Amino acid sequence: MTTEGDFWRDVKAVKKAKWAKFGVACPLCHWSILLPGYQCRIDGFRDARPPLTDAELESVGEFRDMAHYRRWERAQKKAEQEKSQ
Ligand SMILES: [Zn+2]
Repeated sequence: MTTEGDFWRDVKAVKKAKWAKFGVACPLCHWSILLPGYQCRIDGFRDARPPLTDAELESVGEFRDMAHYRRWERAQKKAEQEKSQ
């Protein structure tokens, strides 16, 4: 069973996965790695990509909040049930 503790446990791994998947080097300084919507701390360049969607966050195991996580969990369970039927 998943608890709230599990939800937060892998936060470091999740962050790493998120940056690896969605991070791109700043085109101005080539130093900062930016996620969609992020602003470079060095030169102020703003990444103009639309913010990550729920599905994109889910793909690296991140959730906006507990409600988002529960929604995802329900969808997973539903998919599993449909598979086993
Ligand atoms: Zn920059």
